[in-house]
Parts: sequence; structure tokens; C-alpha cells
Amino acid sequence: MPRVTELAHDAVRGVVQPGDWVIDATVGNGHDMLFLAGLIGPAGRVFGFDIQATALDATRARCGSYSNVTLIHAGHQHLVDHLPAEASGRVRAVMFNLGYLPGGDKTVITHSASTLTGLTQAVDVLAPGGVITVIVYPGHAGGDVEAATVLRFAANLPRDFSITNVVPGKTTSPAPELVVIQKQSAQLKSCLPISH
Ligand code: SAH
Repeated sequence: MPRVTELAHDAVRGVVQPGDWVIDATVGNGHDMLFLAGLIGPAGRVFGFDIQATALDATRARCGSYSNVTLIHAGHQHLVDHLPAEASGRVRAVMFNLGYLPGGDKTVITHSASTLTGLTQAVDVLAPGGVITVIVYPGHAGGDVEAATVLRFAANLPRDFSITNVVPGKTTSPAPELVVIQKQSAQLKSCLPISH
């Protein structure tokens, strides 16, 4: 079974094209930022959020050679406040990797309420056909509640969103899970029966 981080990359790779706008909602050590910056190429833009300066420094060091990267020292619950107005409806992917910064302060973690606000705003700026990936950690303290919150949020989205929950095979402790939320493309929408 591939790691959930790789499965999240696969989900994003399937929809993102060079020139697209994308978001990393939790940059951490910058691995997803580097992946996104490469995928969108010089004509694209990637906006990265984190509340910790150490995470932004690590990401800056990792992605320094890319001119398409914008790092924002703010929580993803303030996503829309920091994006250009043109971002609305044109963001092709938003990646969340919840929990704590690997190798960093394990007491600084994501929280259900701000995660929920961040997800709501991510859905609001998502382009038709766009994708949101969320890696949740039910095995971490508080991570079980947060994972349940993310799944409930996804399950309650309108019908033009499709949800996939990837749960890795049995392990001794609850393993990280991936939740993929995809907004239907405009083309598909026009094929839906007209409701009365
Ligand atoms: N994607 C990263 C790993 C992310 S770890 C990688 O590839 O390395 C989770 C990160 O979320 C941590 O760096 C933590 O500081 C950050 N974080 C915690 N609360 C946040 C919030 N409200 N908004 C944005 N980032 C947050």
C-alpha cells in the first residue's frame, strides 16, 4: 500500500495542469509545496499557509528556486483573506496535511474548528473539477475527533462533490487516512438531469 502522502499526490496530479493555481494549506517542511510548484510550472501559482515561522523557513529553503511560490504566515482559517480576488473559483487543488510538524514542536497541531473553517473556504475557492486532499491522523491525540470532523464535513457537501476516503490496511495503531474531495467539472454538471 503506497503512503497516503503519495496517494494525495496522485489525486492532485490527476487534475492539475501547468499554469494552474493551487494551495498548500499546511506547508510544514515543504514537501507538498515542492511537488505543487513543479506540477504547475512557471505560469502557475502556489500559495502556502502555515502558522509556524520554522515551517515557512524550511519550505522557503526547499522551494527557494521557484518563482511561482507565495508563502503566507497565517492559518488556513484565514485563507480567503490572503488570496488575490482572482483566486475565487480558479483554484484547482488544495492540500491539507493535518497534525503536527514532523521534527518540530508536537504540541502545535491543527484543530477541528480552524480545519473546518479552512476546508469551507477551500471549497469556496475551488474551480470546477478541482480537488481537495486532506490527510488526517486518527492515531494522534485529538486527531480522531478532527478526522471525524473532516469526514462529516465531506459527507455533508452538496451532491456535485465526490468524496473518497482511503483507509490503509490494518495496522496496530490507527494509521493516517486520506480524504479526497472533488468538485464536479462544469461539463459533467450539464449532463445531470434537471431537477424540478
Ligand atoms: N505538508 C507538510 C506536513 C504538514 S504538518 C509536509 O509535506 O511536510 C502540519 C503543519 O500544519 C505544521 O507545520 C503546523 O504548523 C501547521 N498548522 C497547524 N495549524 C495550522 C493552521 N491553522 N493553518 C495552517 N497551518 C497550520
